[in-house]
Amino acid sequence: MPEERVKKILSFLEKTYPDAALILHYKNTLELLVATILAAQCTDERVNKVTGTLFKKYKTAKDYANAKQDVFEQEIRSTGFYKNKAKNIIACCNELVEKFDGKVPENMEYLVTLPGVGRKTASVLMGNAFGKPAMAVDTHVFRVSHRLELAKSNDPDKVEQELCKIIPQEKWTRSCLVLGTHGRRTCIARKPLCSVCVVEKLCNSPDKTCQSK
Ligand code: SF4
Repeated sequence: MPEERVKKILSFLEKTYPDAALILHYKNTLELLVATILAAQCTDERVNKVTGTLFKKYKTAKDYANAKQDVFEQEIRSTGFYKNKAKNIIACCNELVEKFDGKVPENMEYLVTLPGVGRKTASVLMGNAFGKPAMAVDTHVFRVSHRLELAKSNDPDKVEQELCKIIPQEKWTRSCLVLGTHGRRTCIARKPLCSVCVVEKLCNSPDKTCQSK
């Protein structure tokens, strides 16, 4: 049964990665919001290097809203796509100041209206900062879900819906963390380490680098 298979996969992965957690460093919801926007098309490790300095200078939404775009661009330059990211973070924080009293709203519908905030970023916040079940489909979760046939769509938002249908709600946030950790450590993009993969026997992916069957 598909539910049994999903349960088995998640149970193996949970046992393998009990330390699965967000890699992004943050001390509050605003920091997680900024770090997650910066993490688009960038490694979390690089974002942590940048935010190590950035978070000392910018502490409130107002600080970001008042930032000078050209200065801010240079401060986040190494995360890539820095012009867009700078524009979005400044605009996003402007909206936080104007509409939400400088706070990050604890509401998925409001979050996705903020500049630079898509469903993945909003789900990261809902699941990890607000403790509400949320399925944050990043590049690793997306890849692993496809390889393990948990989802079929090429659209990450639809993959989110597919995963939400087959994983119990109370496990959404945790499942993303273990699937993502599997993607980073074992089911890596270019050459997955299938010979040491704990769900190898449950995987029919054409990307497999070994065949046990
Ligand atoms: S067997 Fe290989 S491709 Fe399949 S989930 Fe494991 S690491 Fe990924």
